[in-house]
Amino acid sequence: MTYDVIIIGSGPAGLTASIYTTRADLKTLVIAGGKWGGQLMLTTLVENFPGFPEGIQGPELMMNMRKQAEKFGAEFVDEDFVEADFSKKPFRVKASDKTYEAKSVIIATGADTRWLGAPGEAEKIGRGVSSCAPCDAAFFRDKNVIVVGGGDSAMEEALVLTKFAKNVTIMHRSDALKASEIMQKRAKDNPKINFFYNAVIEQVNGDQKVESIRVKVNPSDKSLLSKTAEEIEKITPAIFSPKFVSKDKDSITLDLKVDGVFVAIGHMPNTKVFKDIELDEHGFIKVHDHYLTNKDGVFVAGDVHDSHYKQAITAAGYGCAAALEVQHWLENQE
Ligand code: NDP
Repeated sequence: MTYDVIIIGSGPAGLTASIYTTRADLKTLVIAGGKWGGQLMLTTLVENFPGFPEGIQGPELMMNMRKQAEKFGAEFVDEDFVEADFSKKPFRVKASDKTYEAKSVIIATGADTRWLGAPGEAEKIGRGVSSCAPCDAAFFRDKNVIVVGGGDSAMEEALVLTKFAKNVTIMHRSDALKASEIMQKRAKDNPKINFFYNAVIEQVNGDQKVESIRVKVNPSDKSLLSKTAEEIEKITPAIFSPKFVSKDKDSITLDLKVDGVFVAIGHMPNTKVFKDIELDEHGFIKVHDHYLTNKDGVFVAGDVHDSHYKQAITAAGYGCAAALEVQHWLENQE
């Protein structure tokens, strides 16, 4: 049997696409993945998805979307996508050990936050560790938070956080920010934002939630170390109650009391498995007209092509757009 469309991915983009394709009477299969639902399955309260004035738990939102898609007849395979052959039609898409055929495909495999990988970080996601200030900033009213990263995302996350937090410190692994001049200026001009350079988080500590971080200050130019030590003494006591763990000629290790850690060191779009699909310079899928990829009949939706907005609602919107384009494309084929 040949599906009208196979949707690879089951986050807001994939599920919204499946609601639209099934309501357009297109025979739809969603390759949902062993862990279906995407990034929202890892979050707690989502307060910025329209239609839920009291907010909604991320997993509940995804469950609702899935139920809605199933109600209209979307079929789901809760197995991981393995590979696809877009070289001839019908397209062939493999999940686990089974291969499915479809006239069209929507790739909605999303992107994963690049995490630090520091001990204690993974267990505290949703409990003080976050990667989405627009989603979680409101939980940090009058708190002291760290934003890790030196790119535009870090500047933007920090700026969003200043609306709620008492103090926001951008911690960057070197002393050269990667962010655009304009974003750097906005962050530097904001009185609530401090910068902490040449520092990496070695460990995230806390029982139920984030309580402190162990930080190693290790500048490549060692002559900066004594200056950094002075700065730590000067800037941080009021905010972080620093406790020095060790100090040698190359580095300083210290524990800082913090309420939250926002990780903004980039995203990894889930594109590696698509061999013939064209990517942009950051590794995201390149979008052509009508949400097509470089392969006719293969469409794209959501964070796998969007390095900019990265919101659940924009992903859902892209899913809707791709589904409408699939519908038009299939009509034109017939
Ligand atoms: P970037 O890749 O631009 O920056 C990532 C930052 O994280 C870099 O400073 C990098 O350090 C640091 N980093 C990477 N890995 C680690 C690690 N393991 N530990 C510590 N630090 C690390 O990603 P962004 O998400 O900031 O931006 C992605 C794209 O989106 C960019 O093109 C950006 O311009 C765009 N964007 C634009 C916005 C806007 O215009 N308003 C807002 C947000 C994003 P190093 O510098 O040392 O490599």
